[in-house]
Amino acid sequence: MQDNNTFDAIVVGSGITGGWAAKELTEKGLKTLVLERGRQVEHVKDYTTTSMPTWDFRLRGRVSAEDEVNYPVQSKVYAFNEATRHYWVNDLEHPYTTPEDQPFSWIRGYHVGGRSIMWGRQCYRWSDLDFEANAKDGIAVDWPIRYQDIAPWYSYVEKFVGISGQSEGLAHLPDGEFLPPMELNCVEQKVKSGIEGKWPQRRLTIGRVANLTRAHNGRTPCQHRDLCFRGCPYGAYFSSQSATLPAAAATGNMTLRPDSVVESILYDEQSDRATGVRVIDANTGETTEYKARVIFLCASTLGSTWILLNSASDRFPNGLANSSGELGHNLMDHFYRVGASADFEGFDNKYYDGQRPNGVYVPRFRNVWDKHPDFIRGYGYQGGASRGNWKRGVGENGMGADFKDAITKPGPWNMGLQGFGETLPYHENSVRLNPDKLDKHGLPTLFISAKFRENEAKMKVDAMNAAAEMLEAAGGKNVSTYNREAPIGHGIHEMGTARMGKDPKTSVLNKWNQCHDVPNVFVTDGSCMTSASCVNPSITYMALTARAVDYAVKELNRQNL
Ligand SMILES: Cc1cc2nc3c(=O)[nH]c(=O)nc-3n(C[C@H](O)[C@H](O)[C@H](O)COP(=O)(O)OP(=O)(O)OC[C@H]3O[C@@H](n4cnc5c(N)ncnc54)[C@H](O)[C@@H]3O)c2cc1C
Ligand code: SF4
Repeated sequence: MQDNNTFDAIVVGSGITGGWAAKELTEKGLKTLVLERGRQVEHVKDYTTTSMPTWDFRLRGRVSAEDEVNYPVQSKVYAFNEATRHYWVNDLEHPYTTPEDQPFSWIRGYHVGGRSIMWGRQCYRWSDLDFEANAKDGIAVDWPIRYQDIAPWYSYVEKFVGISGQSEGLAHLPDGEFLPPMELNCVEQKVKSGIEGKWPQRRLTIGRVANLTRAHNGRTPCQHRDLCFRGCPYGAYFSSQSATLPAAAATGNMTLRPDSVVESILYDEQSDRATGVRVIDANTGETTEYKARVIFLCASTLGSTWILLNSASDRFPNGLANSSGELGHNLMDHFYRVGASADFEGFDNKYYDGQRPNGVYVPRFRNVWDKHPDFIRGYGYQGGASRGNWKRGVGENGMGADFKDAITKPGPWNMGLQGFGETLPYHENSVRLNPDKLDKHGLPTLFISAKFRENEAKMKVDAMNAAAEMLEAAGGKNVSTYNREAPIGHGIHEMGTARMGKDPKTSVLNKWNQCHDVPNVFVTDGSCMTSASCVNPSITYMALTARAVDYAVKELNRQNL
């Protein structure tokens, strides 16, 4: 570092991918500036509600009418409530626009740690079923990597993160470096037997989750409280705060600046390199420039794409590194809110210990071995079985000691399976800058134009029916199905808009997450994705980030950047 504003590397964003970039860059000896647009959230100290009992909340944890006004998008997320509100962006303060008939849910957390504090922690490897999908279907562009390119990096990040799970030996859902699995409860075991008995190729397994089932890398095992979305005082689930940022800080090479909104990347046409970033102080509005030899964009899918779009120059009039014209296009997500549930009898004398912060997973089975006539790609299910609690008494007619006595006893068993399905990379699903709608810093906001299309609609119907069929086959009673409308984005797995590819004419990033056009800029969050798979994506972002840093530092040492 030569002066206060010059570093070896700059990382934009401190969420799941920014934390990883910071850890890897600093551990390789680079003086690294981490710029985060939101406030500081200190591990443990700032988890202000982490152990508050429900009765200490004004609304007993519910979403208030006022919150529905200020957080019209965020408050629809299952994890948003009175206990977690402080982690979500105020939608009114951070606007974006969409076509009237195409709502998009942009779910965000602007603070140190990003959504690593509020994520659901489900971690599944991709396989070549995913990496080869575009090429086989003749859709969009081919991935420039295959499973063997990323497999060692999955292992690398999993060993650090700590993921509990059960090895299953499935080629299309590869096993990882697992800590001991959590247990299936009695009804989940019954449903597993029912499904696997009738369809030997299908599987039900315990969720693969970044919650520790034993002490790991100095972090404490999970206490099964199921309060993770408030932040964990034990550091028992993976977040930037509990894992990557402390590792980066321990090197002495990290400078973390919260409240620093990266407005654009500075580009020098002569050297054809980025030279740094321009930052607006979120509190004072003051502008500062920081310089570095390499820049990692980890500001989340739409955050990073916004920065690139907002970094236009004579050389790149449509956004930095956008000679392909693909920047902002091919936005994807996963559909969900579709599935079935059923009651299970015969287990009234059984219960479970604690509140397991995890469910079950049924890996994809469509278009794996046979071709489905109605759609391409597939879906997996997340779900679980539990007993009804006292809340089943709400809305029921009843009073007196007998009624109270009845609702304090465990209720009937119910098991649900909810589908998460792949969205195709449609060029038309896109984002662009909207100069007519500025944010509080006077910066253009995003116009997001995207929707699910025919393939997703057909897959949803199949996911609903297949869930019901499996629960019925397992002995479920009162099977009910649902297929609820939810805007694209609501799956919180937004991906694409700066895709990887082999050809600079049709993709923004190469196989190392490096901009084809500007070699010292790397983009390693979900914007890099070329297709969406149907599994939760964050472990793949982590593996790609660690892999990209390894490459970038080697390139720096070879004087190639
Ligand atoms: C309720 C919920 C459940 C989820 N469950 C799962 C799950 O089970 N499994 C899974 O794989 N994924 C899950 N996800 C998604 C997961 O959280 C994201 O995929 C992941 O956090 C993406 O990492 P990221 O680093 O790209 O973005 P983030 O973690 O969102 O971090 C981006 C950071 O960049 C900062 N930033 C943005 N713009 C700028 C700027 N201009 N300047 C400076 N800083 C900026 C933001 O403030 C933020 O801190 C879930 C998300 C939520 C909300
Ligand atoms: S359930 Fe486990 S990981 Fe989640 S907050 Fe509680 S102890 Fe932490």
